[in-house]
Amino acid sequence: MIARGWSGLDLENAADTVGVQLYNVRTKGKGVAFVLRPLDGSEQWRRRSNTGRRIWAVCWHGHRAFMRVLFALNGEGVIISTHARYDGRRDFEQSHSWTGDKNIGSHFNPMSFRDACDCHAELYFDSRLGSRAHDGQR
Ligand SMILES: [Zn+2]
Repeated sequence: MIARGWSGLDLENAADTVGVQLYNVRTKGKGVAFVLRPLDGSEQWRRRSNTGRRIWAVCWHGHRAFMRVLFALNGEGVIISTHARYDGRRDFEQSHSWTGDKNIGSHFNPMSFRDACDCHAELYFDSRLGSRAHDGQR
């Protein structure tokens, strides 16, 4: 994804807060481009493929938690992901939910982005982020 409006330190701190790592960080225009990856040896926020295989990628919930922390730091920042573009915190909160319904599987073996993990999201939100990231949704 590309984040505009946060320093490299902001991004590192947000990743630490959520429990993910930044990967392949580089400057891109006025922003910073990077990929979120699970922490080494951690099962938290780990995505699965549509065949159920564990993969080295962060799930929908992990991305959501990370973006929430960023927008709490700067509500006017811009995030451009593979799936969407968010112009500030309000836009993110109003529009991000549909990305969870995106099919990341195939036509014959569909898998929604939201379901491609083993998250018990509420548990993580309660223990790591408190009520800030908890919206009662899966
Ligand atoms: Zn998840």
